[in-house]
Amino acid sequence: MNSQLQFLIELQKLDRRIFQILDVQQKAPELLKAAESPYQEILTHLQSLKNTGESLVKQQRSSERELATQEDLLHKVRSRLSELKTNKEYQAHLYEIEQARKKKDSIEESVLEVMERVEENNKAVKELEGQASEAQEVFDAEKVRLESQSAELVNELTDLERQQNIVADTVGEPLLARYNRLKTMRKGFAVAEVQDGACGGCRLQLPPQLVAEVRRGDELMDCSYCHRILFMAHHLEVETLD
Ligand SMILES: [Zn+2]
Repeated sequence: MNSQLQFLIELQKLDRRIFQILDVQQKAPELLKAAESPYQEILTHLQSLKNTGESLVKQQRSSERELATQEDLLHKVRSRLSELKTNKEYQAHLYEIEQARKKKDSIEESVLEVMERVEENNKAVKELEGQASEAQEVFDAEKVRLESQSAELVNELTDLERQQNIVADTVGEPLLARYNRLKTMRKGFAVAEVQDGACGGCRLQLPPQLVAEVRRGDELMDCSYCHRILFMAHHLEVETLD
């Protein structure tokens, strides 16, 4: 059979794998970003919980200051008891104490409430921190995997390009130009296998005479419709390279 055909089949195999690798390499940053996104989402949520926590603590401090002021006031009101002379004054005083005490109780209640919210928030932060470190571990492992895969692909690509140059040199200029032109026009496939009498590239039925010539493999034959260079499965079984 035509050894040029064998080289073209091999060249297309190399080209396809190179194309695949370049595609994977192009998508790599996207994959890395996608792998990182669950971790980043948790970090964003965590930051917002921490911000809430800070504002709750501020709220707690301010309520505590308010409570201290109110306790002072209540103490002062109570200490005026000895200055009272009439029963009316005494009644008014009791009322004043009652009002001050009620206000103190209500502030105390809001201090407790905010303390409870601080505690709940702290618990949620702790829980999320645990989730964040788990997500980071998952991401780190995936990053290592992607990086080692990428390093392997770089090696494979170097090797493929070396083989591609050797085969391209063997094919020779006019045929290589024809191959490259077809490759560009036909979405990366310049060579097509004949399957059940049809071109594997454009799927159209080929004239039986043409199929017979392709089977013989003496000359390079191309598809009558898409002009891809045709081969048959049995051409693949003969290893003429190396
Ligand atoms: Zn065709």
